Amino acid sequence: MKTIKRALRRHDRARLRKNRRHYWGGNANECAAKQGMVTETPHPCSCWLCGNQRKHFGATVQEQRAFQEKL
Ligand SMILES: [Zn+2]
Repeated sequence: MKTIKRALRRHDRARLRKNRRHYWGGNANECAAKQGMVTETPHPCSCWLCGNQRKHFGATVQEQRAFQEKL
């Protein structure tokens, strides 16, 4: 069972590495370290365009309504 888990992890890592080789503007193929980074972190940015809406803009309208109904 242990070897199956290891094989699955390796398979998934190889699959993601292959799929994500064009991420980050295709710069991930420059070196092995960047390939590893893009495999582990496909989207490293968390700016206000990409990040969590709640973090940057506060509660959603749905959450505001739910909170008001509780009061
Ligand atoms: Zn961003």
